[in-house]
Amino acid sequence: MRIGALEAGGTKMVCAIGNENGEIFERVSFPTETPEITVPKMIEYFKEREIEALGIACFGPIDLNKKSDTYGYITTTPKLAWVNYDIVGAFKKELNVPIGFDTDVNGSALGEATWGVTQGLENSIYITIGTGVGMGIITNGKLLHGMLHPEAGHMLLRKHPEDTYEGKCPYHKTCLEGLAAGPAIEARWGKKGIELADKKEVWEMEAYYIGQALVDLICILSPQRIILGGGVMHQEHMMPLVREEVKKQLNGYLKTKELEDLENYIVLPSLNDNQGIMGCLKLALNEIEEMNA
Ligand code: ADP
Ligand code: ZN
Repeated sequence: MRIGALEAGGTKMVCAIGNENGEIFERVSFPTETPEITVPKMIEYFKEREIEALGIACFGPIDLNKKSDTYGYITTTPKLAWVNYDIVGAFKKELNVPIGFDTDVNGSALGEATWGVTQGLENSIYITIGTGVGMGIITNGKLLHGMLHPEAGHMLLRKHPEDTYEGKCPYHKTCLEGLAAGPAIEARWGKKGIELADKKEVWEMEAYYIGQALVDLICILSPQRIILGGGVMHQEHMMPLVREEVKKQLNGYLKTKELEDLENYIVLPSLNDNQGIMGCLKLALNEIEEMNA
């Protein structure tokens, strides 16, 4: 089967062709300009390749409620050209194939859960810590949607006692994204994360926030494994520090075999940065299955 995959991001749109086994045959990327400029290029790409279904993992917020009049729309995004844009409708009209649709990070969560390190687990979380913080949650074998979709990157956190930075989120200041995403690191320390590699205090504070968020998530959602991706996790010393913080902040409250083995519980993504595109393939397959149900 020829399946189209679209990872719709704020800076680039990655379009790819793959199959039901998660194999990817080709891909291109287009810069994210306005819908009028960018969408026709993507439609042409997919039309020429005669895809049978399409999966879109999209920056948000987006409307995922199939009963809503604005299902398939990008809603209140800060990328103004895309506010209230019917992205699913635009592709549907031109391609007339089944289209699966979800958030960008849900795409990655699904890719890993189908072909990667969370395969076979009923409950897992995929977190990306980059320009923002996104979270995809799989619960009882399904991506968690709910009223909208989880926006757990904006969970409110307790400040580190030595942190004098006010927080970067325009809505909450001291949420996880406001305290720990790449731009918050840069604003707090005056340099980009990549230039701060040898500053121990930077990464200890970072791990304090990520660890705190993970403890909340562990207590609320009881995941069987947590994946941490995104640019900030490219800092090699982050993972051990985060595991250490989780242990410290949980403080022995929960005892499970997973928590005894944190190296296999809190892990990096496993699909060589293909998790998002592979997740799109699975979104398309899920949509076909739902249509046939
Ligand atoms: P995006 O979230 O935009 O898709 P990334 O996941 O690459 O992209 O995240 C970009 C952010 O991560 C930037 O704020 C950047 O400073 C930070 N970042 C990227 N690489 C590193 C690194 N090696 N160490 C620390 N921070 C990094
Ligand atoms: Zn926030």
